[in-house]
Amino acid sequence: MKYLVLVPDGAADLPVLQLNGKTPLEVANKPNMDLLAKKGRCGLMHTIPDGLPAGSEVANLSILGYDPKKCYQGRGVLEAASLGISIDKDDVVFRCNTICVENGLIKSHSAGHISTAESRQLIETLNNELSSDTVKFYPGLDYRHILLLKNMSSDVVCFPPHDNIGKPINNLLPCAQSPDGRETAELLISLIKQAEEILKSHPVNLKRIRDGKQPANFIWPWAGGKRPDMEKFSKRFGISGAVITAVDLIKGIGIYAGFDVIKVEGATGLYNTNYEGKAEAGVMALGQYDFVYVHVEATDEAAHEGNVELKIKCIEDFDRRLLGNIIKKIDWNNTAIALIPDHFTPVSVRGHTNQPVPFVIYHPEFVPDSVEKFSESACASGGLGIICKDIFIRTLLGK
Ligand code: ZN
Ligand code: ZN
Repeated sequence: MKYLVLVPDGAADLPVLQLNGKTPLEVANKPNMDLLAKKGRCGLMHTIPDGLPAGSEVANLSILGYDPKKCYQGRGVLEAASLGISIDKDDVVFRCNTICVENGLIKSHSAGHISTAESRQLIETLNNELSSDTVKFYPGLDYRHILLLKNMSSDVVCFPPHDNIGKPINNLLPCAQSPDGRETAELLISLIKQAEEILKSHPVNLKRIRDGKQPANFIWPWAGGKRPDMEKFSKRFGISGAVITAVDLIKGIGIYAGFDVIKVEGATGLYNTNYEGKAEAGVMALGQYDFVYVHVEATDEAAHEGNVELKIKCIEDFDRRLLGNIIKKIDWNNTAIALIPDHFTPVSVRGHTNQPVPFVIYHPEFVPDSVEKFSESACASGGLGIICKDIFIRTLLGK
């Protein structure tokens, strides 16, 4: 048997006034998702355990059957894995943004979306000046870099810069969460201050100021954590797997789960993503692997923009250009297919929320339930009921 999981990120939604109280999934024209709902068994899943943030990291760990309460370590280590950085057991890894601070306030979490070429030079300079046996910076895409500290505690609280625009940095500096974390917090603060001195006169920033752009005059470490202790899928379930996504977080989860990451040309993480390319890669991967996880970010991005028409279009594109192209080519007698948005991203909220998400599992050996449409309300009366923890993945895999 082959197994395929399809994740339209944040596709689930609450009733929208503009849609006469319906949700984007209820309004969208999506014959292929509805066909799956008809042929499969549906339900709702709690992907965000109580007390954890409604993030894609947490939700996708849950879908794959990992307990986020044990594995969730923040996005730093996940993005580091996707960049190919090797992480030892005692390392603590942070996402490290290059940000713009003006008059002591965070002006931008991305320094006005600084380019990869520019910020890479900044990170290289910081590495030359500040790296040591304990400290190392790794450049990533645009403003998103990695700071790795060797043999340090991760018991610190850091504040995500994008949630704190316009706020004074002095109230947002890293702080220890326990006596163990004190040394880490002090080192982080010291690195932030030393980097400030280096970055303010860096040629890249002087040029950006001359060009009327925001200087990337601060580093901002956050989302720190240790290498997650995740049992590989091959060991747990005895199957091989691959992941297809444009998003580093999801790639990172896949890498820790022991999957191969399949790169698709033109996969952007936005609504202009290459749906057909992802569909083709998904079908090809099913030939080679037992389990394939296809994640599409576009629906979530549209919801963050609060753009309901765009979210509906992204659902329809996912349905026709991705799912439609996949189900034409698979062997229905030998493939189980699950469709599950990782979490709600209501357009009215423009952020994630933690309601249980609708899902369908088509399995050639399952008797279909009476659900005929794929939506939040329709799946609520599905035959698989409301589930949590690893029941979803075990039902799909029959384990
Ligand atoms: Zn998500
Ligand atoms: Zn999101």
